[in-house]
Amino acid sequence: AGPPPGPVREQLSPADLFIAVKTTGKYHRQRLDLLLETWISRNMQQTYVFTDGEDEKLRKRMAHLINTNCSVTHNRQALSCKMAQEYDTFINSGKKWFCHVDDDNYVNVDSLVKLLSQYSHTHDVYIGRPSLERPIEATERLGTKQVSFWFATGGAGFCLSRGLALKMSPWASDGTFMATAELIRLPDDCTVGYIVEALLGVSLIRSALFHSHLENLGLVSDIRNQVTLSYGTVENIKNTVHLRGPFSTNEDPTRYKKQCNQ
Ligand code: UDP
Ligand code: MN
Repeated sequence: AGPPPGPVREQLSPADLFIAVKTTGKYHRQRLDLLLETWISRNMQQTYVFTDGEDEKLRKRMAHLINTNCSVTHNRQALSCKMAQEYDTFINSGKKWFCHVDDDNYVNVDSLVKLLSQYSHTHDVYIGRPSLERPIEATERLGTKQVSFWFATGGAGFCLSRGLALKMSPWASDGTFMATAELIRLPDDCTVGYIVEALLGVSLIRSALFHSHLENLGLVSDIRNQVTLSYGTVENIKNTVHLRGPFSTNEDPTRYKKQCNQ
């Protein structure tokens, strides 16, 4: 399984990162515009947006917009089709680290660089927040073999080192990722965990610095040092991080503008 990850100190800069943002046509205005006004604008060269429809307005504003031509639905095939292209585009980019986020995530790129510089991109590193309290169980199609593994929830973002990503290639590159997702019939982020933990025997490194809207974001403190943030609504109640400051919750309901101006 390769040499154990960290602690090593690697000179790392934002240019070494490949940050894939998964989105879909209907969220370009609703979600991506906010990211373009906040963290993406400062990190244009390392941010790659993966979507499913052409959008000239968005293309003009983005350095890297990838129209996947994946189907415009929220099913397993459509989502694993996007992840497959995120993976292939990363491999071709030559960057040291692959990070995936959703279009409702805020990324603190400085914190991300700080976190990843504790590891070597040539080692096997898979880091993020596990979405469940226990490993997920899956049965491989065509077999009876039960496998059990941890995975990092895509909604909080996760990262893979280039060293590990290259080892994933037999199950992830050039269309094989979709076949792997079909084999276990699980979503894209679970499929990544399956390849890394169940097939390659590498363990997920748990980090509490990644956040999805499945957790109570009002409890997150030390917001500036978190790697990712999120926002959502649960039963009509807004789930966001708490920040006081120049933007009212009316003009900045997600608190991302406030965060970006700190
Ligand atoms: N998404 C997508 N296609 C769709 C619906 C959603 O690619 O048809 C993406 C969306 O842009 C986001 C991620 O999937 O990056 C998760 O979607 P959402 O936040 O709406 O759902 P949840 O967080 O509740 O899973
Ligand atoms: Mn979401």
